[in-house]
Amino acid sequence: MNKAIIRTGLETLYFSGMHHIMRPLVGGVGCILTLHHVRPRRPDAFQPNRLLEITPQFLESLLKRLARARIDVISLDEMHQRFIDENYKRRFVVITFDDGYKDVKEYAYPLLKKYNLPFTMYIPTSFPDRLGEMWWTALEAVIARNSRIGMVINGKDQFFECGSVAEKYELYDAVYGYIRSMKTEDELRKFVRDLCATYSVDIAAFCRDLCMDWQELADMAADPLVTIGAHTVNHMMLKKLASEDAARAEMEMSRSVLEAALGKRPAHLAYPVGDPTSAGPREFRIAAELGFKTATTTRPGVLFKAHRNHLTALPRISVNGEFQQQRYVKVLMSGAGTALLNKFRRVNAA
Ligand SMILES: [Zn+2]
Repeated sequence: MNKAIIRTGLETLYFSGMHHIMRPLVGGVGCILTLHHVRPRRPDAFQPNRLLEITPQFLESLLKRLARARIDVISLDEMHQRFIDENYKRRFVVITFDDGYKDVKEYAYPLLKKYNLPFTMYIPTSFPDRLGEMWWTALEAVIARNSRIGMVINGKDQFFECGSVAEKYELYDAVYGYIRSMKTEDELRKFVRDLCATYSVDIAAFCRDLCMDWQELADMAADPLVTIGAHTVNHMMLKKLASEDAARAEMEMSRSVLEAALGKRPAHLAYPVGDPTSAGPREFRIAAELGFKTATTTRPGVLFKAHRNHLTALPRISVNGEFQQQRYVKVLMSGAGTALLNKFRRVNAA
């Protein structure tokens, strides 16, 4: 479990038949799903970020399952309104996509339109500005394209063999864990930037190739099915910013930039990475002070009535490659898996 938690703040859970017993206890009033990439499976053997993607076929079967289960698929605004009205008559699901990838427009959007389902895209504004650093993808590229890599670890030059797929995974996980444990995001970014410079990987290219530009976002934002949410400017792990002002500026600025570019002020926010090392009580408070109606983490969990008092610290359920089987999603949405992880605390906003 640790490996997945340190990886991206996304959870990996292992299930038994226990969820059937626990369901009445933990089902909650609804849940918010987190998705990233939606694209056809790629043939590469080394895909350490595979847990950030699902196939279009998987998405469609999930949407069909939601329709069959007669669960309301609603927007974040509608979810917020139901909490305010204390209207918990029908269970609901909210669909959210983080980061604004082009493949969401290409593969997910046609399906969501086909089933007429609302969804949210959380956009870090540096991505359409083409200044973003997708450091997790850059790290993957450095390791994928080389069979021996040197880097400075704890002040010492060290070399690692990574010719085989197994070695590449091992190295990725080790380096990922090492840089995620760094005290500041500046250190993490500098480490990956240096690595990219040494191994001639163009870190800016990932943003350009993978993320929607402003025109593509404007086209989608014009659709009433689409909600655009803020996701900071620089996709920062906010809790690691020592200065409260800097954390506040990341959230506030991203909202202003999105409003200026798309003509509508975002009312919702997602904390980048979103696990407890990147968003905590300080961030939850700032988001509320800034007037965001809701803000989401990647802490795993379903929603309970009690979340009405913690609308800027909402958990989500990650739908990702590791769970690419409907039975896992079903178990996750029942709340059983995440209740285990949360030790049965319903609200985890500490
Ligand atoms: Zn993100």
